[in-house]
Amino acid sequence: MLTYDALARERCAIVIFGAGFVGEYIGKRCAVASISVAAYCDNVLGRTGGEVFGLPVRTLPALMEEYGENIVFLIAVRDIDTVVQQLAAAGDFPWHPVCDLYELSDIPQALPFMDRQKLEAAWYVHDHYCDTERLTLNTLDFVITERCSLRCRECSNLMQYYEKPQNFGLPALQEQIARLLTVYDEVYEMRLLGGEPFVHPEMKEIITFLNGQDAIKRLCIYTNATILPGDDVFAVMAEGGKTWFSVSDYHVLSRNLTPMIAKLEEFGIGYERKPVDYWTRCASFEKHNRTPAENRRIFYECCAKDLLTLLGGRLYPCPFIANAMNLRAIPAAQCDYVDLMADKSVEELRQELRAKLKNRPFYVSCDYCLGRPAVAFVREEDKIPPNEQTAAALPYRRLEVMADG
Ligand code: SF4
Ligand code: SF4
Repeated sequence: MLTYDALARERCAIVIFGAGFVGEYIGKRCAVASISVAAYCDNVLGRTGGEVFGLPVRTLPALMEEYGENIVFLIAVRDIDTVVQQLAAAGDFPWHPVCDLYELSDIPQALPFMDRQKLEAAWYVHDHYCDTERLTLNTLDFVITERCSLRCRECSNLMQYYEKPQNFGLPALQEQIARLLTVYDEVYEMRLLGGEPFVHPEMKEIITFLNGQDAIKRLCIYTNATILPGDDVFAVMAEGGKTWFSVSDYHVLSRNLTPMIAKLEEFGIGYERKPVDYWTRCASFEKHNRTPAENRRIFYECCAKDLLTLLGGRLYPCPFIANAMNLRAIPAAQCDYVDLMADKSVEELRQELRAKLKNRPFYVSCDYCLGRPAVAFVREEDKIPPNEQTAAALPYRRLEVMADG
């Protein structure tokens, strides 16, 4: 690729930003192209120094101390936006996204599914980031049901509060997707969830419909492995060739975990199995009256801030805001969502999406949220046992008037 020819002529230190699987892959491609890489940059692994994949691993400040601004970065972190922001804050560094460094067709088919998926996801996210023409989405949580087969007391999607949860019917779901795809040019990964998606009796039809939407590249099923779908549902998912599973392992509660994994293997569907060690408390609705600086910090540390959520035809910035507004537990702040089904032109909706759901320092509704700290920000005292069950729906104060907050 042209980038490697250009890198070979560079007089700067070449540093791979991100010492994970994608970083290792790019390191190997550089070696094949006879590009000499100086180091890996990694904010966590770099703290203790040492080596990864046969090269030094350092923090950004340590690398700047060693090389000054004489560095070209190859960004190997999926979330390219935060890396570019860090680099811009530190200096005027040239950088390359992974879509300069490999093509989708380069990803080795022999790799396990989840490794291929990491390379593929990074490619799409970086490609979307560099594409200023098209309106694209990296991930979208699509809520197809308010129901769940479990009732976890601290469910971050707030399922424990739904007293009379409902499934959303196929025509309504199709209408939402049709509208979504008039506004967005491409969605890399659509995550089907609720609740538990397999409580929905029309999963086969939903998947069949989504298989036919070429602008959606991947479907991910988030499941607690309590319900084992029939072979016909697995067959439709396998035929579409774009579905993979994220299976939460809640031990005895995930009563169909073993047969579900066996079916995924049988049908050749990719999956990750996620044992859950701890949760953090994030499922209440009180107004905190924080200062803007405090809300900015909660938002900065939040792991859910990019989980755009489609629920009932509205696009919300995260699952908390989507479900809290759907439950009428917090005011429906109009600046915090976009109603896709409103009688507006595509261009009007696009403008609204850019204004409301992009580059916000925090949302008005964040002041009602305890926050969902990403792993790097979780303190020991924040950890609570995961998936404790509650026998009945939890009470909360339902707002009668959906006042704009
Ligand atoms: S399994 Fe628990 S955490 Fe997952 S959606 Fe259901 S209630 Fe929420
Ligand atoms: S409301 Fe704000 S802080 Fe809470 S999960 Fe959503 S984006 Fe994160």
